[in-house]
Amino acid sequence: MIIECPYCESKVDGKIIGEHVSYGDEDPHPFKAVLLECPACKESLLGYQELIQVGFEQDEWITGSNRLWPKPTNNNRWLLPSIVSDSLQEAEKCYNARAYSACAVMCGRSLEGLCNHYQTKSKTIGGGIKELLERKIIDERLFQWGEALRKQRNLGAHATGEKITKEDARDILDFADAICEYVFVLSNKFDSFIKRQEEKAKKEAKERNAEEYPEVF
Ligand SMILES: [Zn+2]
Repeated sequence: MIIECPYCESKVDGKIIGEHVSYGDEDPHPFKAVLLECPACKESLLGYQELIQVGFEQDEWITGSNRLWPKPTNNNRWLLPSIVSDSLQEAEKCYNARAYSACAVMCGRSLEGLCNHYQTKSKTIGGGIKELLERKIIDERLFQWGEALRKQRNLGAHATGEKITKEDARDILDFADAICEYVFVLSNKFDSFIKRQEEKAKKEAKERNAEEYPEVF
């Protein structure tokens, strides 16, 4: 099974050691946890598969896009549009390779991806995130994080002689992750949470109504 090995920092064809299928109470779809061994470094890895309907009365185990253990740096990155997640992944790679200026540049590219996704009119990152603030896609705090990130990105992108420190690189990578997670993951999660609550309230009201005014046959 193909899985990303964090020790080898590459995708490997993990050797399956064992698997366990479980069924949730609420969710009827079975979930399979798969224990693997990396063929290169022999470390243990835990992945998963989900049973997905692929055709008429035909189900197939599909490998989950993320590792369960060791826990990936950001569990939610796979939920982001690829234009954004690719840059964040590159930023992480640069950080791990101690290329902190390159990390800052890649974090800036993730913001560019965010602006592109929302088709902001401004072609600069600064103008783009301002527009996102005005359109209420991000709030004031995230805007400030974005601004801090943008300034570090400019230091990293231009040959000014100023160095990006390890701490600064880590912080702006965390800011970039947080901004993207807020926009693409938590906002969606909150919307579906509210929708579920509304549907529940509607269902309860309907049931109450049926009890108070039973139909007469
Ligand atoms: Zn490995």
